[in-house]
Amino acid sequence: MRSFRIGSLFGIPIKLDLTFLLVLPLFAYLIGAQIEGVAGILNDGLAAGIDIGAITSGLLPWLLGLAAAIGLFVGVVLHELGHSLTARRYGFPIESITLWLFGGIAAFSEMPEDWRQELNIAVAGPIVSILVGVGSYALFVVTPESLSGARFVLGYLAVLNVALAFFNMLPAFPMDGGRVLRALLARSQPYAQATQQAASVGKLFAVLMGLFGLFSGNIILIGVAFFVYIAASSEAQQVTMKAAFQDVTVGDIMTPADDLHTVEPETTVAELIQRMFTERHTGYPVVDTDAFEGERLIGLVTLTDAREIEPVERDAYTVEDVMTTELKTIDPDSDAMTAIDRMREHDIGRLLVVDNDDLVGLISRTDVMTAFDIVQQSGVIAPSSRPRTAD
Ligand SMILES: [Zn+2]
Repeated sequence: MRSFRIGSLFGIPIKLDLTFLLVLPLFAYLIGAQIEGVAGILNDGLAAGIDIGAITSGLLPWLLGLAAAIGLFVGVVLHELGHSLTARRYGFPIESITLWLFGGIAAFSEMPEDWRQELNIAVAGPIVSILVGVGSYALFVVTPESLSGARFVLGYLAVLNVALAFFNMLPAFPMDGGRVLRALLARSQPYAQATQQAASVGKLFAVLMGLFGLFSGNIILIGVAFFVYIAASSEAQQVTMKAAFQDVTVGDIMTPADDLHTVEPETTVAELIQRMFTERHTGYPVVDTDAFEGERLIGLVTLTDAREIEPVERDAYTVEDVMTTELKTIDPDSDAMTAIDRMREHDIGRLLVVDNDDLVGLISRTDVMTAFDIVQQSGVIAPSSRPRTAD
């Protein structure tokens, strides 16, 4: 996400994502285009007494639309501040608040696993939205009826902030209501299990929201539904993995050096691909055997590296020509989650496990996912019962 900082509140940087610059004029346009209908609703519902003729002439609808859209996003920032300041009170640092396509995101570097804290942090946002709505309504009431434009914007913000609070309280994890649901579920069961249940409910709501958006032609709602679905899945997987791998180290799930297939730098790319095919591995450590120094790790070669050579030239190139020498390594005592994070960070599929400069094994995404499947399906893992051949 490309974003830039516009300032800070309570020491928390407020950022605008580029997608926000798309959605702000869109909102201003949508509000401006529907100004007559909305003013009519406000007149009926809040007895707003707005003179519709006075706000629909010339550029006024678009200016009022822009004012309402900006007011709406100010409300969103205050909502996120509600979450952020509550979280900070519990000692969780807040990196930033970002406004983007679907509203606001408060970025926490870690999440509380205590259900009471999560509950309070989750409800703080909607409570702030309700307060902003009530505040807008109070201003609306004291604004003289002659100022139809101001009454329109304030009445609109009063209704929308309250609506925002209710929408966010839908139990669609990871939206606020979904976090409340997880907090309540986590009272009586492990955090990871509560997350999975909340995420399942969240995905169901996302599907319903998407269908509703589809039938009512509401593109924004379809977008939110997609976002909720993907975010629910990825957060549930993250939390479940973290719980599953609590006491699992890289050494527990890596392929130990003894079982490792290696290649020599002089091997041709054609031979390498043939070996990949028969052994069904897509990555090999490259080991140079030296008469004096013994075996020495000099690189890593993957299928992607090999495919850079045209098929007809594969006999002419060797592993040494295509291998990666900038090796990403990890300690066997690191925990499995660190390995996943490191692979994700560098966007690579495997890490060499190195202990005091010695190659002791290789850990790949496949190793991690297989181990994760086993832990999930067997329920438990007993790392100590596994032989630690690498040690
Ligand atoms: Zn919220």
